[in-house]
Amino acid sequence: MPLFDHREFDAHERVVFGHDPASGLKAIIAIHDTTRGPALGGCRMWPYASDDEALTDALRLARGMTYKSALADLPFGGGKSVIIGDPRTQKSEALFLAMGRFVDSQGGRYVVAEDVGISVGDVEIMARATRHVAGTRAGGGGDPSPATAYGVYMGIRAAVAHKLGRDSLDGVHVAVQGLGNVGTHLCRRLAEAGARLTVSDIHASAVDYARAEFSAAVAEPGDIMDVPADVFAPCALGAVIDDRTIPRLKARIVAGSANNQLAEPRHGAALALRGVLYAPDYVINAGGVIYISHEGPGFNEAQAFAHVARIHDTLAEIFQASERQGIPTSEAADRLARTHLKRPGTVAKAKAHAAA
Ligand code: NAD
Repeated sequence: MPLFDHREFDAHERVVFGHDPASGLKAIIAIHDTTRGPALGGCRMWPYASDDEALTDALRLARGMTYKSALADLPFGGGKSVIIGDPRTQKSEALFLAMGRFVDSQGGRYVVAEDVGISVGDVEIMARATRHVAGTRAGGGGDPSPATAYGVYMGIRAAVAHKLGRDSLDGVHVAVQGLGNVGTHLCRRLAEAGARLTVSDIHASAVDYARAEFSAAVAEPGDIMDVPADVFAPCALGAVIDDRTIPRLKARIVAGSANNQLAEPRHGAALALRGVLYAPDYVINAGGVIYISHEGPGFNEAQAFAHVARIHDTLAEIFQASERQGIPTSEAADRLARTHLKRPGTVAKAKAHAAA
């Protein structure tokens, strides 16, 4: 399996493969960049079809975390870990203790948190074997999903202001794909702001709840992208924006929480060509990691949410830069993130914050 020639390899500092035969752990930790501080990123558990698929996910997600933390001005670099396995059938205490030891072997260069397939409880088991964890109840914050949803809500407001020239979401039609932890909190905020909702999920109970609580209309999972909404908010899976789906999109804005929404980077340009405003995923979904960065003694939830709210202005800056420079918003975000990484002032400030 190639690493240095891998299509997703982007000068990652370190990629480590971990195997613990006793517990069955097969995992990868990818550390992309630690310029700003230790590489923070969730651990994903997924029944990958191949080792290459797992490596691809780890490399790509780790780089996204570098850019995410840089743009949010956090004292963290970017990393990610993946456990190859089915989260419904292959979880065990021994597995997560082994994963904790694997994280610990990186000596603090990598800090683990939850991600798809991994719960707060799972990370708390890892925390028995390493102190390099974030997003646990002991840290003061707990589940970061409400903060992620708040960031997405603020991002949708920025996108609606930029694209539709409207300061209010009253009457704005949002199609939400995925009613999990983030999607449901997002729906609540949108409904409170007067938005009209169409929702979809593969689980009927989640859909029934949204219909009853938020007076949401319902679309079949396969049809949500065809809904003539103002905003399409992907809050389920990655890679939903591709050659097949872009021509179907009716919404003029794509703004949601899912990681890796573009199947390939070129789909950012394809959206721009069709006049669709894309809120880059790692910018709009940074609320959770921003929230986690506030954890620790003296945790102040209001301060954490005020920090998350800044996603609105960061996105507004990216939308304007994209227009000024004639480049897709995805490219404008990457460029802005790279300037944040190189700016010594912000790095020093971030590291001082980490040490405090
Ligand atoms: P979750 O697992 O709680 O929710 C995902 C939901 O999507 C589930 O209800 C699932 O049934 C639904 N779903 C799956 N396939 C679907 C399909 N084809 N059509 C419609 N619905 C479908 O996950 P979450 O924590 O809400 O996160 C949602 C997305 O946001 C993920 O991509 C995650 O990586 C990303 N994200 C989450 C956070 C966070 O704080 N939780 C932070 C950043 C990014």
